[in-house]
Amino acid sequence: MATRALLIQSRRHFSNGAIQNVTMVGGGLMGSGIAQVAAQAGNNVTILEVGQEQLKNAQNIIGQSLGRVAKRLHKDDPNAANKFIEETTSRIQGVTDLARSVENSDLVVEAVVENMELKHKIFKELDEAAPQKTLFASNTSSLSIAEIGSVVQRKDRFGGLHFFNPVPVMRLLEVIRTPDTSEQTHQTLMRWGKSIGKTCVTCKDTPGFIVNRLLVPYLAEAARMLERGDATAEDIDTAMKLGAGHPMGPLELLDYTGLDTGVFIMEGWHRKYPDNPLFKPVELQKKLVAQGRLGRKSGRGFYDYRKL
Ligand code: NAD
Repeated sequence: MATRALLIQSRRHFSNGAIQNVTMVGGGLMGSGIAQVAAQAGNNVTILEVGQEQLKNAQNIIGQSLGRVAKRLHKDDPNAANKFIEETTSRIQGVTDLARSVENSDLVVEAVVENMELKHKIFKELDEAAPQKTLFASNTSSLSIAEIGSVVQRKDRFGGLHFFNPVPVMRLLEVIRTPDTSEQTHQTLMRWGKSIGKTCVTCKDTPGFIVNRLLVPYLAEAARMLERGDATAEDIDTAMKLGAGHPMGPLELLDYTGLDTGVFIMEGWHRKYPDNPLFKPVELQKKLVAQGRLGRKSGRGFYDYRKL
C-alpha cells in the first residue's frame, strides 16, 4: 500500500515535468541509499561508478536494505515483498561511462568521496555531457556547494541535497541553495525530496548547513571537556542522555560516526575560517586518530569496543 502511494505520488510528479530520471554519481554508503529511495519512489536511477566491483557493492547494499524494507512493508505477504524488491531493483541500472549515465537525466546527485578536486573534475565532465535541462546537486557534508559548482556553466541549476546516514531510515533532507541557485531549481529539488519521502528543510550554503553546523562544534566541545579533565567520557555521555534527552552521548556519537571524519571536517572548516573558535580542531581527537583509534569502525575510539 505504501509503495503504491509512493508510485502514485511520483507519477503525479512526472506529469508536472519534474524529476523522473536520476543519475547517482557514486554508489557507496550514501549513493546506494539515495539510489534506493529514489527507485522506491518510482524514479529510474542510473548509478555511475568507477568499476564493476563498486557497482556490485552498491547492488549488495541496496539488496540488503530493500530486503529489510520489504519485510517491514509486507510482513505477511512474501509474494508482495518479492514483487516490491523486483520492481524497485528493475528501476536501477549501473554504468561506468559518465556520458551514458546522464544521457536522459533530469537530476544528477553526486556522492563521491569528500574531495573538492575530484568533485570539480566530475562536475566539469558532467556539465559538458548532460542535457541543458539536467539539474545538478551535491551530497557533500562539509564542502561549499557554490565552490563545488564553480566549475559548471549551469550555476542556476546547481544546489545541495544533503542526506543523512542511513538514507532509507533518516527522514531529513537539507536542500541547499547558493546565491546562484534559481528559485525554480530550488523548488524542484524541494518537491523531489518530498516525493521520495523526505522532510525537507532549506539552508543557505553555510559550513555544515543546519545539522552539522550545530552538531560538529557540540561534539568537539564534548571532546575538549574530556581533554581538560572536566569529566569522564562516561559522565559526559550519561549527562547528555539523561539531562538533555539525547539518544546517544556526544562521545559515543563521535565513536559511531568516526573520529577521523570529525577531524577531517573541522580541519577543512578551520583552514577556511581560522578565526572561528568553534571550528578549532581538538588535539585529543587528532591524537586518537593518529593512534588509529577511529571509533567503532577500528574497534577503539573514546571507548574500547574490542571486548564487546
Ligand atoms: P563512500 O566512500 O562510501 O562512497 C563514495 C563512492 O564514490 C565510492 O563507491 C567510490 O567508488 C565512488 N567514486 C569515487 N570516484 C568516483 C567517480 N569518479 N565516479 C563515480 N563514482 C566515484 O562515501 P560516502 O560515505 O557515501 O560519502 C559520499 C559523499 O556523501 C561525501 O561527499 C560525504 O561528505 C557525503 N555524506 C556522507 C555521509 C556519511 O554519513 N557517510 C552523510 C552525508 C553526506
